[in-house]
Amino acid sequence: MTLPNEIVTRFAPSPSGPMHVGHLLAALHARQLADVNGGRCLLRIEDIDQRSCSPEWVELMHRDLEWLGLRFDGEVMVQSARYAAYQDALRRLREMGVLYPCFCTRGEIKAQLAEIGRAPHSSLGYLYPGTCRTLPPEQVAEKMAAGIPHAWRINMQRVQELIGCPYWEDMRRGVQRCVPTAYGDVVLARKDMPTSYHLSVVIDDAEQGVTLVSRGEDLFEATHIHRALQGVLGLPIPRYYHHSLLRDNAGKRLAKRDGARSLASLREAGYTATMIYKSLSAALANGGIWHI
Ligand code: GLU
Repeated sequence: MTLPNEIVTRFAPSPSGPMHVGHLLAALHARQLADVNGGRCLLRIEDIDQRSCSPEWVELMHRDLEWLGLRFDGEVMVQSARYAAYQDALRRLREMGVLYPCFCTRGEIKAQLAEIGRAPHSSLGYLYPGTCRTLPPEQVAEKMAAGIPHAWRINMQRVQELIGCPYWEDMRRGVQRCVPTAYGDVVLARKDMPTSYHLSVVIDDAEQGVTLVSRGEDLFEATHIHRALQGVLGLPIPRYYHHSLLRDNAGKRLAKRDGARSLASLREAGYTATMIYKSLSAALANGGIWHI
């Protein structure tokens, strides 16, 4: 339970590979924001994508956190154990009439975007042109009956009609106006997965009583979507802190997929936790450029 005015932060890694120093920075921000405010910092494993996440990465993550002396409060939440809660939220949204099934394939969406001459990308991926939003109900029923795979998208225009453009407080950038339609009708349940990052993250931040969401600034735009979902689902609204990210010598953001040196590989190579913390301090004093 979260006490009134208590600061509750969280570190929410996705175990789809080994952690690197960028994860350490995210964890430290969350931990310190809790500590300076006498609050709590929780841990949540975001493993809804069971194809890319594995128990092996979770185990390694715990080992890395222990090695670095990072501790979290309370119980660890594991998203793969929470599909029922996500289903329940989807059901509520469906009952409110803000969800619709989308049968489009990626290729079809690309072709539709090319046809209307729209640039294929926003910072959160392509902006869905809304094709399935206006499908006649009999066509929807037909496709459903034929078992055509479908995702569930949220009708953000309708959400905006319901909640308007509410605000959220960003501790680094000030008060922000949420524009629910800014990133289009995003997917809330994927074809291959009964939920999505956006849905799970807002349900779980609320369930864990998180009052201050601390995470990298690469997720700043996603907060428009999260704030809109919180509004329509009647969830409490946390404050946000989007910290800046570490970059490599070439100025590129550290990322798992680019093979950023993992904490585990550094440990195996003989680096100590103190050396890792020193390299991080040096990076922060040097505009976020990290090297070891
Ligand atoms: N699981 C996400 C990641 O590892 C972070 C999500 C969040 O902090 O909202 O990038």
